[in-house]
Amino acid sequence: MSDHLMATYARLPVRFERGEGPWLWDERGNRYLDALSGIAVCNLGHAHPAVARAVCEQAATLVHVSNLYRIGPQETLAERLCARAGMDAAFFANSGAEANEAAIKLARLWGHRRGVQNPTIVVAEGSFHGRTLATLTATGNRKVQAGFEPLVHGFLRVPYDDLEALEAVARNMPEVVAVLVEPVQGEGGVRIPSAGYLAGIRSLCDRQGWLMMLDEVQTGMGRTGRWFGWQHENVTPDVMTLAKALGNGVPIGACLARGEAASVFQPGSHASTFGGNPLACRAGLAVLDVMESEDLVARAAALGKRLRAELKERLAPLPGVVEVRGRGLMVGVELDRPCGELVGRALEQERLLINVTADRVLRLLPPLTLADEEAHRIVDAVSRLVAAFVGG
Ligand SMILES: *Cc1c(COP(=O)(O)O)cnc(C)c1O
Repeated sequence: MSDHLMATYARLPVRFERGEGPWLWDERGNRYLDALSGIAVCNLGHAHPAVARAVCEQAATLVHVSNLYRIGPQETLAERLCARAGMDAAFFANSGAEANEAAIKLARLWGHRRGVQNPTIVVAEGSFHGRTLATLTATGNRKVQAGFEPLVHGFLRVPYDDLEALEAVARNMPEVVAVLVEPVQGEGGVRIPSAGYLAGIRSLCDRQGWLMMLDEVQTGMGRTGRWFGWQHENVTPDVMTLAKALGNGVPIGACLARGEAASVFQPGSHASTFGGNPLACRAGLAVLDVMESEDLVARAAALGKRLRAELKERLAPLPGVVEVRGRGLMVGVELDRPCGELVGRALEQERLLINVTADRVLRLLPPLTLADEEAHRIVDAVSRLVAAFVGG
């Protein structure tokens, strides 16, 4: 481990040098299968030629000019994302946390314009929205917050997947201006809300005049088998954020909004030096091109269904397995005990990259470009690991 890196991560003892599709090679030439995609980032796999080409071309043409000038690729990316998502306007940032910061600021400004003194945003238990001060406050996990007090005012927490709790907020809290939730909680353990939850939030927001804001940083860009997580419920949010897979590894985040919410920010309201620069936006455009031409959203839906069915068949009978669940290629295997050590075992014994979240949930977020044969390998390896773990 390097002495010169702040110890923000307990890193696994492997250094990858090269990747191709779902495969990675370490410095000794060992090959690994990546069922995590850099945490739902490299949805097209590693070193995708179309993204590499776009980034190389743009790097050799123009990397950055600042948002003081018009930026062609940024305008095109905004137009294409808005068309895809039914949104009217985009603000580009460099990460998920920043995209959410933009959404939070937008909601507050929107509230103040309507005369609300202390605009309050309702957030959920078990949520994850990032590590900046406002987004860690919005995050429903004490471990993320502890030691960073004082936290930011203006958030109100309710249980996830609980419309009753939101109704109670509506009755009692006049300063609420927005609800911010994930369509599926990723870091919270691949938690899928009941059918009707997002639709219920939509009607509540309509009735109360609240903004419905969805954090699609992990669920967005095809991961769940739809372009965006809210499309599983046929509702449209007022504000949504994207990041992880938007640049296939090139840092980029976006806050999209429609209707009145789209014109809240005015010159001076919000800004980013790097956000939406030509390089990042070219990567985003290349990602959209590949997703569309290879129909990867449908692929994620179909392959995800099969992968989950196979995992269920192999794992559900085991005593320590609580549930196999997921949406598209966002997959969780919940065990009855903490299983963090499976990550190291998978790496060592199976040369497989997986993740464990919420202590007891083994999480798979493989590239959407995964071949059937590679999906089988993941199922085999995960089944062996889990069977050995709960069996002994
Ligand atoms: C990863 C994630 C974030 C934070 O993104 P960063 O790019 O790490 O800032 C926010 N929300 C959700 C749902 C995420 O999964």
